[in-house]
Parts: sequence; C-alpha cells; structure tokens
Amino acid sequence: MLLIKKTEYKEMKRSGLDSFYRCYIDLKPELDGYVQHIKTWKDIQLMIPSRHNADRYIEGNCALIGDAVHTVHPMAGEGMNLAIQDAFTLGELLSYMYGARCLDAAQLKLYEQVRKPRAEFLSSLSHLSALAYSYWQGPWPRVRSHVLKRIERIPALHYKHMLNISGLGVWKETLLDRFIQIGLLPGSILPKVNGKEHQYTEQDDYPWKKRGNWNDC
Ligand SMILES: Cc1cc2nc3c(=O)[nH]c(=O)nc-3n(C[C@H](O)[C@H](O)[C@H](O)COP(=O)(O)OP(=O)(O)OC[C@H]3O[C@@H](n4cnc5c(N)ncnc54)[C@H](O)[C@@H]3O)c2cc1C
Repeated sequence: MLLIKKTEYKEMKRSGLDSFYRCYIDLKPELDGYVQHIKTWKDIQLMIPSRHNADRYIEGNCALIGDAVHTVHPMAGEGMNLAIQDAFTLGELLSYMYGARCLDAAQLKLYEQVRKPRAEFLSSLSHLSALAYSYWQGPWPRVRSHVLKRIERIPALHYKHMLNISGLGVWKETLLDRFIQIGLLPGSILPKVNGKEHQYTEQDDYPWKKRGNWNDC
C-alpha cells in the first residue's frame, strides 16, 4: 500500500509510472525489478478514503446491503463486518416473513430500521480511526499508540470499544472516556464492567418478532 496525497496523484500520473516505481523503491529498494511488472495505471487499485451512507436501504421489494448502502474507509476496516451483519439481519427477516406467510414488501423496512442506525454509528467510528491513522508525522504515531494501549489495558474502555466495533451493542464514548484514553485521568475512576452492558436485546435485533408488526398481513 502506498499513501498518495490527493494533490500529488495527478502530478504522478503526468510523470508516468516511473514516479510510482520510485516511491516503492525508495521505501524498499528490494522491490526494484519487481514493482516494474506493473505496466499500466489500470493495474493499480486506488483506495479512495471516503465514506457514504445511503438515505434508505429499501425501495419497493428491493433491499440493498453492504457497500451499496454504506462504505467506510478501507484502511479502518468494518466494511466486511457491516456487510455480513446486513445480510444476516435481512436473511432473518426474510425467513420470518416466509414462516409467517407475510410477504408484504413494506415489512422490509424493519431491516432498514435495525441496520441503518447501527451502520451509521459504525461508520462514524470507522471514520474516526481513519482520521487517527492519517497523521503519521510528529508526535501523532506515539500518541495513537499510547491511546490504543490504554484502551486495551483499561477494562471499561476495552469492553466499550470491543462492544462498539463488534456491532453487538452500542455504548457511546464520553468526554470522560477521551480524557482517560489520552491519560489525563486514571482509568480507575470508571465503574467496573460485567461484560453484559449495552448489548442489543432480542427485541433490538429482531423487532419483527413482535406480533404488532404483522397486523397488515
Ligand atoms: C483494499 C480494500 C481493503 C479492505 N479491507 C477491509 C478490512 O480489512 N476489513 C473489512 O471489514 N473490510 C475491508 N474492506 C471493505 C470490504 O471489502 C467491503 O466492505 C465488503 O467487501 C463489502 O461487501 P459487499 O458484499 O457489500 O460488496 P463486494 O464485496 O464489493 O461485492 C460486490 C460483488 O458484486 C459484484 N458486482 C458488481 N457489479 C455487478 C453487476 N453488475 N452484476 C453482477 N455482479 C456485480 C462484484 O464483482 C462483487 O463481487 C476493504 C476494501 C478494500 C477495497
């Protein structure tokens, strides 16, 4: 992977593939002779650091899942996780609809109701880590590593972080958490966690199991 600044990409293309080879060879001289196997710009995949969240996931009897409705920065991860969770939720809903003999397409909205707020939350988290990783000069790498170590070592911060990125629940970080993450306050001031807080309930995950939602069928 090679980080190319937005402003430098056009210039690089103008100068030809040699400028691309040079970047790799400067980084790792052993790549000389190997990187030149790339003969055209078409063989280079650009990872554009952008994200989007669609306004709706459903139109009539069509449902969109995965990157089609939300993309996250590829470096920050989460895209695959979100796509699998979308597929799971939609699959569970469709099975229920067939089981209940209710194929009214309006019920597909329940899939959007479950997934959209979760994907948007994960997208903002992922964006935050993408931002954190885009500063690689000065004190930033050390600050980042310090924060990550604290998140790993302080049980309440660790639980919250893992819960949020796993998609098993939501427990938003507070300003107090941020102060603790950077080391301005000790982790001991946070209450102990029992590993069950703020997880989604069955009702959150499968709202269609509520009888009331099937009145129209
Ligand atoms: C370089 C890179 C690194 C990444 N790293 C990570 C990571 O570390 N962790 C992570 O969680 N996510 C990562 N992602 C994101 C992750 O790959 C995607 O979020 C995930 O694959 C989305 O799944 P999807 O099924 O929605 O889309 P895709 O995996 O893109 O699947 C869509 C499929 O549809 C096919 N298709 C497109 N158009 C048509 C058509 N007209 N007819 C038929 N088929 C069509 C495509 O060929 C493709 O197979 C990364 C992405 C990139 C690009």
